[in-house]
This record gives sequence, structure tokens and C-alpha cells, in this order.
Amino acid sequence: MDVSTKFKKMEASSVRKLSIFADEAKKKGRKVYHLNIGQPDLATPQQYFDHIRSFQPKTTEYMPSLGIPELIASIQKYYADLGIHFTKKQIAVTCGGTEALVFAFLAIINEGDEILLPEPFYSNYATFFTISGAICAPITTYAENGFHFTKEDILARITPRTKAILISNPGNPTGMVMTMDEIKMVADIARKYDLYIIADEVYREFVFDGRPISSFGFLPDIEDRLVIIDSVSKRYNACGARIGALLTKNKEIFSIVTKLCQGRLSCSTIEQHGAVGLYEAGKAYITDARDQYQKRRDIVYGLLHQITGVICEKPEGAFYLIAKLPVDNVEKFLTWLLTDFEINGETVMAAPAEGFYQTKGLGKNEIRIAYVLDEPELSKAIIILAKGLERYLGN
Ligand SMILES: *Cc1c(COP(=O)(O)O)cnc(C)c1O
Repeated sequence: MDVSTKFKKMEASSVRKLSIFADEAKKKGRKVYHLNIGQPDLATPQQYFDHIRSFQPKTTEYMPSLGIPELIASIQKYYADLGIHFTKKQIAVTCGGTEALVFAFLAIINEGDEILLPEPFYSNYATFFTISGAICAPITTYAENGFHFTKEDILARITPRTKAILISNPGNPTGMVMTMDEIKMVADIARKYDLYIIADEVYREFVFDGRPISSFGFLPDIEDRLVIIDSVSKRYNACGARIGALLTKNKEIFSIVTKLCQGRLSCSTIEQHGAVGLYEAGKAYITDARDQYQKRRDIVYGLLHQITGVICEKPEGAFYLIAKLPVDNVEKFLTWLLTDFEINGETVMAAPAEGFYQTKGLGKNEIRIAYVLDEPELSKAIIILAKGLERYLGN
């Protein structure tokens, strides 16, 4: 029997590619430090659990398709506090930022339309391209420039089929944070070439070294072409809540998104109540998380930088980095770490960066690290990685 051709062709997740080897290492009794998965480990705000406990309905019912009014009000207030003003009819609660992305793609794309996006990029985007039939037009960025891109880099990729530009800012998997000048530059291009902007800002507050938040939402003159993707997953350490949001002032897009939301009835009722609690946690909670990630960034960057041959600019935000290693094939090296290397029964797993690139051949000598371990574990993990690299290169 036949199955979907376009999905059959899709490659497996690069983040988990080496999982079999990690499992084998664990079976041998080794401890494996995971630097591969971007799953935050900080404590979810207590308010989330309080709201869930106090939710005692007789029947757990479907909720309004666009989200429960309390949560929409919380999201609206969170944005207003940032100086970004949405009405309640411009906010759709979604099942994670993931569903918001799928709906944004479905609302905007006709088969064959091109979406520009900086590469390396969040690998799940590839799924949304396949679902919507959009063509991926990557703007290649480089470790040497801290993964920033210029006006010329974008213009070189624009064609008559270009429909939108998609940007993860702060960037997963690179840790790049755009300046407001860069945001304005993209906005100017979007206006000139009549493009939509899909701004994936799920890491919005995770900007380091005193950088201000940079959001497409701050620019009033792109309101009609902007779709913001948001999520509680990273900001509130609540990946399991599966609550996100799509925000847009474009009425046509919102009307399509409304139909898509109606088609899947509603998001989880209890999780929406929990998420209201998350938004109560407020700014102090978020800045504390940011400060912890910054300390971790300092540890990882500090240790990596001491290794000769490593190329990596200081990551500016989120909790990831991509670094060039002095080996030809990082996937082989990372596999070797799991199969043939250990220090006191411990080793590390990280992701080969190749899977974050669309352009074939790029990223082969690069590693993607998610620094979501506590500080002592993280130091140990990076030291093991460094010693492993030394031994690997010595062989
Ligand atoms: C984690 C992540 C998301 C969405 O995650 P959800 O848990 O579905 O909210 C979206 N974009 C990027 C870049 C991410 O890293």
C-alpha cells in the first residue's frame, strides 16, 4: 500500500540521530550528558500547578477554539507590558508554538511559494515546509559572523515566488539575536517586496549581556504583514503544557487561522488554565531564567574557546550555540564519543549541526549544543567534550 510520498522523503530528526548510540552507552552503564535537546530544565512556576489543582470541573469540556478568555487576556497583557498592543481578536491560543507555525504556513502559503529563512534553522521548520508545500529558500549564515545576515544576503535570494520570511529571533539553533536595526532592515525589505514576516519569538526575553529585547512587534509599519509565533514552552519552562499563540493584525490571516483552530476544536482545557498561572509568574521569573542561561552560556563559551581550532562567536541569546570544530566530520566524532569514549564512566551527546542546514554539504564540521544542564553538569559535559576532542584528534 502507498503512503505519503512527500513525507516518506523527509529525514529523521538530527537532534535525535545519535540516540541509538546514546542508548547503547547507557546500557553499558555509562552516564550520558545530553547537550542535544533544547528542553529547559528550570522549575516551572508554582502558579502553573496551583491553577491546575484548583481546576475542578464536573466535566472537562471543549473550550472556545481560539482559546479561553482568561488566557487570551493574559497574553494580551503580557504583550501590552512590552509595548506591543493586540486586541483580543488578534490572538489565537494554539497547541504549542508548533501549531502556531503550522497554521501560519497553511494560512499564507500556496503550493510552490518560497519562504526565505536564515540557515542553519530549527529543524522542525522542515516539517512545516513539507506540510504546506512551501519551498525553502535558505539564507546561509556563518559561525564566523555570529550567524548574522545582511540586506544583500536576503536580496540575493528573493525571486518572484518569494512569499514570506521566517526568522527565529533569538535564534535556535544559533543563539544569534538580531539588533533592532537588523529587524528594521528586514521589515523594509518585506515592505518593498510585499512579503509576510513570520517572527518566531519563543525565546524573546533570552537575550544576554544587557541587550534589549528585539521584536518585529515593535514596528508599527509592518502590522499588516506580520505573524508572531509565541509559546510558553521556553519562557516559562513549560514544554509539556503544549500552549502557544499566534498573533497577527492581518484580518485575512486571522480569519483562516480561526477556521483552522475550529477544525481542531480546541486546545487542552486544563493546560490553558495552567498557562494563565504561567503568565502570572511575571517578569522576575523570566529575567531570572535569562540570567541562569547567560551564566551557562559563559561556561560553555569560555570552555569551548580554549580549544584550538574551535570557531564560535559569543552567542547572544536563546540557549544554543553552533561551533565549528577542527574535525572533518562532526557526526563521526559525536558517534565516537558515545561508542568509544568515556571519562570515569561518563560521556556526552550533542547534535551534529549538518541537520540544521538545507544546503547540502554545510555544517559537516559543526556541532550544535543546547546548554540546558545545571552549571556543574554543564562544566563536566563540556570538559568531557574537550578531552574527547583532544583524544580524537590525537588518534
Ligand atoms: C521550541 C521551539 C518552538 C515551539 O515549541 P512548542 O513547544 O511547540 O511551543 C518553536 N520554534 C522554535 C525555534 C523552538 O525552538
